[in-house]
Amino acid sequence: MHSSITLDSLTRACSALSRELEGGRIGCVACAHHCKLDDGSRGICKVRYRESGSLWVPWGYTAGLAADPIEKKPFFHVMPGSKALSFGMLGCDLQCSFCQNWMSSQSIRDPAASTGVQSVSAHEIVDAAKSHRCEVLVSTYNEPLITAEWAHSVFTEGKRHGLVTGFVSNGHATPEVLRFLRPVMDLLKVDLKAFREDSYRTLGGKLTAVKSTIADAFDLGYWVEVVTLLVPGFNDSEEELAGIAQFLVGISPEIPWHVTAFHPDYKMNDRVRTPGDSLIRAREIGTQTGLRFVYVGNLLGGTSGSENTYCPQCSAVLVRRVGFSVLERSIGFDGNCQGCGATIPGLWHHDSRLNRAVSRGEGASAKESQKDEVG
Ligand code: SF4
Ligand code: SF4
Repeated sequence: MHSSITLDSLTRACSALSRELEGGRIGCVACAHHCKLDDGSRGICKVRYRESGSLWVPWGYTAGLAADPIEKKPFFHVMPGSKALSFGMLGCDLQCSFCQNWMSSQSIRDPAASTGVQSVSAHEIVDAAKSHRCEVLVSTYNEPLITAEWAHSVFTEGKRHGLVTGFVSNGHATPEVLRFLRPVMDLLKVDLKAFREDSYRTLGGKLTAVKSTIADAFDLGYWVEVVTLLVPGFNDSEEELAGIAQFLVGISPEIPWHVTAFHPDYKMNDRVRTPGDSLIRAREIGTQTGLRFVYVGNLLGGTSGSENTYCPQCSAVLVRRVGFSVLERSIGFDGNCQGCGATIPGLWHHDSRLNRAVSRGEGASAKESQKDEVG
């Protein structure tokens, strides 16, 4: 276990995501908890604190650095087959009992969790990306929102070298942090973990904040993909899945939705791995609701083509995948279907432009779909 005190030496004072409040307190706007900090106090995430009048934020270390397939993040509409240099720090603003990264995310709260850290500069992370031939830089493993200033610094360096940049996040964000990152960040993967406010409360967060993040990020021009880990008995009712699908269609039917299999982990060992039938049913619900790209992930025994990208116009297979491997790619570098010429949304080549053929709300009313929240 790392104490927050030992990590305090790997911080720096930074005001980019702090706001002065009445009464002398400082408000942190890095995540939707909006902690209000007096001198000597710490945020809910434990890694950000106020001292000598300033907000101190994590800086200059990594607790994980790896060159991963971009499909593992997962981003399925971003340069298929490319590699993403993934870096992480410690801590999270939520406490999910099914966390599959709890050794990093809960290492400050939970004595059973432990991950080593290593000092590193932004320049060294970008060098590692280049030496591993990665075209993408991704902040992941812990919750990147709580270390957003450090990611901003790494991405600024990455942009000097032409890298595409992104977050793998729980989406419990604020408009301020999304705007702060946008000039140097391109991609956002959001975990939409449930569609009930009471379920989110058990994780320590707010569904409304995550929904706003997805809508806001889309409007700001991020490339957004959404993942729902299907946890039996927690979020897998047809009503809840339909609610998620309707909400996403209301923003854009072109947002890829990944429904992935849960396996017992951390403090949630009282239920079985997600049955394959549930994942296939979730995919049907997504496509019947109007989403054009719904993917199944982590399914034992194969996914029968449900990891492939199909042209929504002519049904041609554009990207054939098994797990994190791309077996075949027949989409033009500009993102056009080579069968019928349809424009497929995404960033398909490093030097091409992001395709977003459908604008927000086309396909359903965002307002209408927000009312369909379950719970
Ligand atoms: S990142 Fe979130 S939890 Fe941490 S101090 Fe800021 S508002 Fe609080
Ligand atoms: S938000 Fe993600 S990293 Fe944080 S506790 Fe939940 S699953 Fe783990």
